[in-house]
Amino acid sequence: MSAGFDAACTFCRVVAGETASREAYSSELAYAFFDHHPAAPVHVLVVPRQHITDASQVGVEHAMVLAEMFVAARAVAQREGIAEGGYRLVFNVGPGSGAEVPHLHMHILGGRRLGWPPG
Ligand SMILES: [Zn+2]
Repeated sequence: MSAGFDAACTFCRVVAGETASREAYSSELAYAFFDHHPAAPVHVLVVPRQHITDASQVGVEHAMVLAEMFVAARAVAQREGIAEGGYRLVFNVGPGSGAEVPHLHMHILGGRRLGWPPG
């Protein structure tokens, strides 16, 4: 599903400013904000401003949106001082992944040594 705004969607409400968030980056197509329950010293979520349910719903028509999400991630990593030491970008898809909000989001995790494979 891809639409402009879903009033029932938690992250659509964040993008619209109806739910408070601490901004990490903002552009025409993407918005980034600090996770309320950080799993690392730096934990930021990057979301498209348009509603896309998850990574399994991404199509070629979303190419610009996806590119902006990665540009946002790079900018956040530089601003938060984790670009040099390294960081992780994660998309969770479906209930078994731990995904909680059905609006596409990229986790940026950094600021500590990250184990692999993830738990
Ligand atoms: Zn949404």
